[in-house]
Amino acid sequence: MKRKLDLRGGRPVWFSYRASSVPAGKLTRDVKTDVLVVGMGVSGAMATEALTRAGHSVICIDRRGPLKGSTSATTALVQFELDQPLTKLSASKGKADAEQAWRRSRLAVINLSGRVAELGIDCSLTCLPSLYLAGNLLRPAELQEEAEARRQAGIAATYLTRQALAERFGIHRAAAILSHGNLALDPRKLTAGLLLRSLVRKARFHAPVEATAIEHGRGQISVGTSLGPTITAQHLVLATGYELTDLIPATAHRIVSTWAIATGRQADKIWPGAALIWEASDPYLYIRATADGRVICGGEDEDFTDETRRDALTADKSKRLAAKLGSLFPRLDVGPEFAWAGSFGTTTSGLPYIGALPGHPRVHAVMGYGGNGITFSQIASEIVASAIGGRDDTDAELFAFRRS
Ligand SMILES: Cc1cc2nc3c(=O)[nH]c(=O)nc-3n(C[C@H](O)[C@H](O)[C@H](O)COP(=O)(O)OP(=O)(O)OC[C@H]3O[C@@H](n4cnc5c(N)ncnc54)[C@H](O)[C@@H]3O)c2cc1C
Repeated sequence: MKRKLDLRGGRPVWFSYRASSVPAGKLTRDVKTDVLVVGMGVSGAMATEALTRAGHSVICIDRRGPLKGSTSATTALVQFELDQPLTKLSASKGKADAEQAWRRSRLAVINLSGRVAELGIDCSLTCLPSLYLAGNLLRPAELQEEAEARRQAGIAATYLTRQALAERFGIHRAAAILSHGNLALDPRKLTAGLLLRSLVRKARFHAPVEATAIEHGRGQISVGTSLGPTITAQHLVLATGYELTDLIPATAHRIVSTWAIATGRQADKIWPGAALIWEASDPYLYIRATADGRVICGGEDEDFTDETRRDALTADKSKRLAAKLGSLFPRLDVGPEFAWAGSFGTTTSGLPYIGALPGHPRVHAVMGYGGNGITFSQIASEIVASAIGGRDDTDAELFAFRRS
């Protein structure tokens, strides 16, 4: 049924913080449910929480186990600022759609932070300013246009000159956009928190269990599993991350490789406001701090999938990331205490595909693609929960597989 990947290599920093364990039982007999969610990473957890909140009975399965996929490798900058600058997205998708995608992402980040507060999930979530630095993709004049485009769309953005950036943040670069309202969090604690809240609402978790076949019946879906038993559901939600099922059109996405490092704790050397920092450049660079003062720096993406080659490059990529971090912040101790690599799914448009699969109205894809993966997982949980509840989401068409 699917393409399998070794999703990550090395040791992500999140393993040094304790996330609650999520119990998952064996699957020993055929079972029935309203909704079957395949995948217990952050996308599956968000969908499950939204669906159980709406009163649906939900079963989740995962072929590895909860929190064992790319969710543990993410650097978890949860931004409404999309990887695709608004000006560039407008050029490819049209101004109205591009502005709407940006606004929906802004709402998703607000909704996620409200959801975490309402559920009382302790996931070290902080709301932070961000700096989008001029780079080889957007020079200062283009960055100024980008800030203006965002303001026209109703999204606050302040253009900082070289001098203002140096005075306010001690960063010596040509220019930046300053924004507010992005999030940083611990992705494993968030995912475990969402799953555990769903468990209280009687969600059932089975792992390791792999979905191996999907059959469509009248008004229901039957999913065969690696262990033998079949799960029958009214709706199927595929939250399988970058291991996409064959039902999902392969042309829609590609898998690349990416790397990240985390330094030791250095709270007193963190830059003003602990702003999230990312660069309008290729190769990509982004930086954040953890709540206890480590600095995470990621990027250096390469356009290949091969996991052995990816992991073999980790030492070299770590050095490059540390050097870039040191050139931006000379006072930091940039030596990596953690270094890891991951596979990473992107789409050509930069927007994810979310919703019912073409020709399969009861099979929904909930996918976090690209550098905004977690923001997109939040949007997906909203759109898919609406669809399963029989309601329309005003932005469903924007992210649909069959969008115009
Ligand atoms: C290094 C790195 C840095 C990143 N940084 C950021 C960032 O800063 N901000 C951001 O928003 N995003 C970022 N991302 C992207 C983000 O990590 C992903 O969008 C997110 O983790 C995807 O979560 P998921 O739940 O969809 O996938 P996963 O966590 O991979 O979960 C999918 C699960 O499905 C299971 N599964 C697959 N197939 C089957 C099957 N047939 N049967 C049963 N189970 C199955 C897998 O075992 C897996 O556990 C980053 C990614 C990487 C690798």
